[in-house]
Amino acid sequence: HVSVVLFTADLRLHDHPPLRAACDGGGRVVPLFVRDRAVDAAGFAVPNRLAFLADCLRDLDAGLRARGGRLVVRSGDVVEEVCRVAAEADADEVHMAADVSAYARAREGRLRRALEGAGRRLHVHETVTTVVPPGAVTPAASDHFAVFTPYLRQWSRLSPRPVLAAPRALRVPDGVRSGPLPDRAALAGSAGLSPGLARGGEAEGRRRLAAWLRGPVARYEDRHDDLAGDATSRLSPHLHFGTLSPGEVVHRARRAGGPGAESFVRQLAWRDFHRQLLAARPAVSTADYRTRHDRWRTGPGAEADAAAWRAGRTGFPLVDAGLRQLRHEGWMHNRARLLTASFLTKTLYVDWRVGARHFLSLLVDGDVANNQLNWQWVAGTGTDSRPHRVLNPVVQARRYDPDGAYVRRWVPELAGVSGRAVHEPWTLPDRERAGLGYPAPVIGLAEGLARFREARGLT
Ligand code: FAD
Repeated sequence: HVSVVLFTADLRLHDHPPLRAACDGGGRVVPLFVRDRAVDAAGFAVPNRLAFLADCLRDLDAGLRARGGRLVVRSGDVVEEVCRVAAEADADEVHMAADVSAYARAREGRLRRALEGAGRRLHVHETVTTVVPPGAVTPAASDHFAVFTPYLRQWSRLSPRPVLAAPRALRVPDGVRSGPLPDRAALAGSAGLSPGLARGGEAEGRRRLAAWLRGPVARYEDRHDDLAGDATSRLSPHLHFGTLSPGEVVHRARRAGGPGAESFVRQLAWRDFHRQLLAARPAVSTADYRTRHDRWRTGPGAEADAAAWRAGRTGFPLVDAGLRQLRHEGWMHNRARLLTASFLTKTLYVDWRVGARHFLSLLVDGDVANNQLNWQWVAGTGTDSRPHRVLNPVVQARRYDPDGAYVRRWVPELAGVSGRAVHEPWTLPDRERAGLGYPAPVIGLAEGLARFREARGLT
């Protein structure tokens, strides 16, 4: 008996139902990863995620070798490659994780037809990339939840399935060819690779999770919005690439207990919430979930504003700090994501898709469900019950970066500015301001707010 396990967004050995099912069958197993040409063609394979992916694949291969196996890596059309490997190994079946995007579901359908046509079975496993599978809980009159709180109530009542141990050993059939493992070093120097990018891989993810649950999670409830404190888990890339199992994270956080862990688990429910929404409405990766009849700004003025925003040169220190953190680390604090997204879509009134594209070009955790639906939430075209609220960057700065330490860390032009002026450099005397080399605000906040309110018919 031979099984192929196709790894996608689940690059781990622990708590991995497809791998366990294949190993429990007692036969030989081909662990396979396909560098999918369609993902590259869609522009999704950007340097930061490719570098993190390279770490993940090397670590997965090392973990498999320690158990007597190895990872088979191919590239090309994913369906053709899986079928080719299944034929080379004379496999009876293929195991893989369920996923939610329109692309992932089309891939699953194509794969099923191709394999079944050759007399092989495809097993698709739920609860690999989510804690609760999309559609497992629904409100009375709909196929998905559009409001988070009632979703959370139902989500919290379902216990995640028990955590599965990593297999102790596996046997790979001979004669299955593998391409080279991708190499992070090969990406060094490519434009768009962030110098402060985190390291990937299951071992690193497990180390981070253990360190997080041993201490810092206890203060998550109080400190998750403290920008300078950087007191969130930073597990998002590991959840995106599946080097950590979301179900295992929930089990272990609940075992750690306390209000910090509870509020951390609530954030993980947001992840499942967006996935159940995308599964039910695949078009919302690009289309508005709720239309507000926006006529977003276009043309040279809007393009110049968007360029200043991307470069972190809007003249609003907290906005610029967030965007520069994104460029430097391939990651941004959630509070800064909220503010920078509100600034682009509401203060500058530029289409959320423009911002979402920029985030996806850099975020190491860049994820269709989380990114697009959080952008829609902020833009007011998604599930926020207060779709027209506008975050004020100065008010946000006083609240979440009261000492200005986050701004000084990411905006070196302002590192020497003391007191409140670090958040409002335009209040400095002209001579002092001119010496900073920091841009003047691209827009007046009152002007931006008035334009937005008029566009949304609120005046
Ligand atoms: P923690 O605060 O430690 O939270 C733990 C985990 O919960 C996160 O790792 C993440 O998996 C999940 N989570 C937390 N907040 C959210 C949320 N609002 N929605 C969904 N899941 C959440 N997250 C991504 O993973 N990928 C994205 O592409 C992404 N794009 C975003 C774009 C915008 C405009 C906004 C406002 C948010 C976006 N988020 C995205 C959500 C959130 O900002 C990140 O998950 C979080 O900042 C990651 O840091 P962390 O792991 O330290 O989070």
